[in-house]
Amino acid sequence: RLRGYRPVIESPLGPGLLTQRGFTSPNHGANQPPEPAKTQLSETAMPQTAARNEFNPFVNAQLQFDDAAKVLKLTENQITLIKEPRRAVECKLPVRMDNGEIRLFTAYRVHHNIMRGPAKGGIRFHPDVSLDEVKALATWMTFKCACVNIPFGGGKGGIVCDPYKLSRNELESLTRRYVSDFFEMFGPDRDVPAPDVGSDPQIMAWFMDTYSMHHRDHMPAVVTGKPLEIGGSQGRGEATALGVVFTTKKAARALGIDLVDARVAIQGFGNAGSHCASLLAKEGARIIAISDISGAYVNRDGINVGAAIDHVKKNRTLADFDRAGYAEKLANPLELLELDVDILIPAALENQITTENAPRVRTRILAEAANGPCTTEASRMLTKQGVFIIPDILCNAGGVTVSYLEWVQNRTGYYWTREAVLKDMQRILDEAFDNVYATSKQHEVSMRVAAFVVAIDRVARVSEIRGLYA
Ligand code: NAD
Repeated sequence: RLRGYRPVIESPLGPGLLTQRGFTSPNHGANQPPEPAKTQLSETAMPQTAARNEFNPFVNAQLQFDDAAKVLKLTENQITLIKEPRRAVECKLPVRMDNGEIRLFTAYRVHHNIMRGPAKGGIRFHPDVSLDEVKALATWMTFKCACVNIPFGGGKGGIVCDPYKLSRNELESLTRRYVSDFFEMFGPDRDVPAPDVGSDPQIMAWFMDTYSMHHRDHMPAVVTGKPLEIGGSQGRGEATALGVVFTTKKAARALGIDLVDARVAIQGFGNAGSHCASLLAKEGARIIAISDISGAYVNRDGINVGAAIDHVKKNRTLADFDRAGYAEKLANPLELLELDVDILIPAALENQITTENAPRVRTRILAEAANGPCTTEASRMLTKQGVFIIPDILCNAGGVTVSYLEWVQNRTGYYWTREAVLKDMQRILDEAFDNVYATSKQHEVSMRVAAFVVAIDRVARVSEIRGLYA
């Protein structure tokens, strides 16, 4: 997947095992065209270079940065200091599989920026993980934490694997090896991971245990999204979705949309998507379509969300949900994104709405539960079409906000009630939404540009105050 692209990679395993080139310089890779990220959509309709760039999440993240940097009139030096990821590490993790075979898994950890606090960002377990994807996700984490004003920088990790095809033993070995090989990058004051696509609280528990064993101390604050029994926070499981619902309610109020009976379509039915469905159904909204890796399911009278959640608990995916008589299956799952709805929630992966399908998107609010579900160009098109986008770095920030509260609880050793956690989270997100909304009005820019303006301004100020150590 990285053919033709030579990132600057530092390996804690030392030279010889991987190409060692030292830390990234602020402008690394500026002249190297990145490889395109994998996409599920056809690229044939577009000129090749444009298509390659449109589907590269890191290119998209950088374009989003540029749009806001223009509004802020940042100097070249300011841009040099905060635009690029500072550290990108690749390791090959050897794991003994259940059949005795030893397999090597490619894994990454990226620190984008740690000016405002320790790097914060999940670990993705997915077959399509690439370095550019992890760099994009780390970039978005820096600006997400800054946008909602929590004291973290941005990081992200990924392991190229299909967690659904690994046994529990294999998954545990892979997780522990990840912690061990990237050990020096982590720490409660250095880099605090969390779950992302394909990872869950159990994986965070193995992470916390491995790190603590190496460190010879009890270290719950090194990772968030843990089970409650070992220092997880009340409310963390549904936090991302709750944040989506809080920000969606605010957007609906601004647009005069009543959530009761509002038509909602949700792509992705994992942690973020399934909780969004049940929380919005509780608000009285009508969930008319849901989807996951098995396909998309529609019922215009409203899907029975409880039945869908039970189905996934039993079968791991929504496969055959239509046969149970609850919904009809769409021939092309991407058509879910084009249904006539009031609220569309992409909650799966990047690059789902592109210049190809953006003209057919018919929603009033696009609530980005996923990171980077819209390419930058598609997002500009949707804004022109009058779609109100709640950008990912604001919309899905409920997860990292409760992760922050979990980290605070771990560090103080005092644990809060669910009500206290969620009240604090809502206060943080409400303030962030109001700030971004006011900024979008002030500069007459989209909510996405405004969210980046708010965030980049905070990172730039901190960089200025701390100064450059040289
Ligand atoms: P998850 O692994 O729990 O669920 C992902 C879901 O997407 C699964 O239902 C999967 O089947 C589905 N999916 C995968 N490919 C798909 C496709 N092509 N079409 C339709 N569905 C597809 O992951 P998650 O934690 O819910 O994360 C989803 C998104 O939300 C990601 O972009 C992630 O970065 C973002 N996010 C998650 C959190 C969190 O706390 N979990 C926080 C912030 C952002």
